[in-house]
Amino acid sequence: MSNVFDLLIRNGDVVTPEGVLRADVGVSEGRIVRIARELEGSAKETIEAAGLHVFPGILDAHVHFNEPGRADWEGLASGSAALAAGGGTAFFDMPLNSVPPVLDRESFALKRALAEQKSRVDFALWGGLVPGNLDRLGELRDAGAIGLKAFMCGSGVEEFPGIIDAATLRAGMKRAAELGLLVAVHAEDDALARSLVDAAQARGETDVRSWMATRPVEVELAAIRTATDIAGETGCRLHIVHVSSPEGVILVAEARRRGVDVTAETCPHYLLLNEEDVVRLGAPAKCFPPLRSEIRRQRLWEAVEHGGLDTIGSDHSPAPPTMKVSNDFFAIWGGISGCQHGFPLLISVALERAPAAEALPRLATLLAANVADRFSLAGRKGRLAEGADADFALLNLQGDHVLHNEELFYHFQQGPYDRRRCTVGVARTIVRGRTVYAEGRIASAPSFGHLLTPSP
Ligand SMILES: [Zn+2]
Repeated sequence: MSNVFDLLIRNGDVVTPEGVLRADVGVSEGRIVRIARELEGSAKETIEAAGLHVFPGILDAHVHFNEPGRADWEGLASGSAALAAGGGTAFFDMPLNSVPPVLDRESFALKRALAEQKSRVDFALWGGLVPGNLDRLGELRDAGAIGLKAFMCGSGVEEFPGIIDAATLRAGMKRAAELGLLVAVHAEDDALARSLVDAAQARGETDVRSWMATRPVEVELAAIRTATDIAGETGCRLHIVHVSSPEGVILVAEARRRGVDVTAETCPHYLLLNEEDVVRLGAPAKCFPPLRSEIRRQRLWEAVEHGGLDTIGSDHSPAPPTMKVSNDFFAIWGGISGCQHGFPLLISVALERAPAAEALPRLATLLAANVADRFSLAGRKGRLAEGADADFALLNLQGDHVLHNEELFYHFQQGPYDRRRCTVGVARTIVRGRTVYAEGRIASAPSFGHLLTPSP
């Protein structure tokens, strides 16, 4: 029998959650149709991948591309290009920082149309859960929202208020549970953070260490306790985004043992940087929750390695350079730009810590398979398997080079990984069988991305 594939990737080391195996991958009509040691047949396009790893396309469930309304902070075109250069094949855009924020049918449709015009990779859209939009959550579900995002403290932008009281959060999670929607929370306790900030500012403090002292781990832990308790009461599926501390991971595990349906995300920056990097780098390394101590960073890696975390997302959150400059560190915009360099560097550091045969399947799980499972995209996305979309990042694990901000596709070439050594290079990124990035260049046209919606 002679096959004719659209695309044949030959002799790569294919990475799945189960392991790494040398195989050919045959693609037709955007899907993986065969994975086998030596595929017979011909193809319209053949990629010789000997020496490369065929990694599942990274599903970044946490970005802020800020369009419409603040496209000058990033935008869907540059953001999706940067993600593709970092090995990403789909992003889930957060509902806030765009104006209007995604809080109802109309704002969802507006962002969807823009992403369909501009994105170079596939995408899903988060809806917002804010005080006062309970009666619009059904519209968001029907429009295809991947889940709902709520802030348990101020979000940093006026048009997306946080839910800072338990009663409102409870009502929101109850409604979300009725609709079958997952709720993701930014877990920082508003009252505790606010009291610490007020006290620091009353003392006239403006420096970076004083700012970090206003966001101790307890701010995160208090919010995780509240959110997991309410998720347990309401039966809501809960996802804690950007867990920054090993103590937070433990709280999530304890809640899960009590029967709460909760998962935890962390971000590359909590695994690649620590609080001394905030002091050294300043604004590019400011984020909420803040980077933690070196001991906590190491313990967070151990949690990754022992299955305590479910997903890793970039929380790519850029802002204009003017908002990243102030003599008052408290006034600087919090948000790290990381969707391009963060993933290859994360894989590079993981390979320093563990053999490839352990590290790569684990990361394929956290960066792709678990994301697809948690957000009901499994079968189509997240795994290199026959029948799934042909989404790959071809990685060169001997790509010893130094990262430079000048190679970033972001609208603003800023980020905390400048001049870091990285042994993992993204040679090529493929979405549904089509090359979107190769060897330093964006290869896809805009208007290639498809909306991803959760299976019912
Ligand atoms: Zn975020």
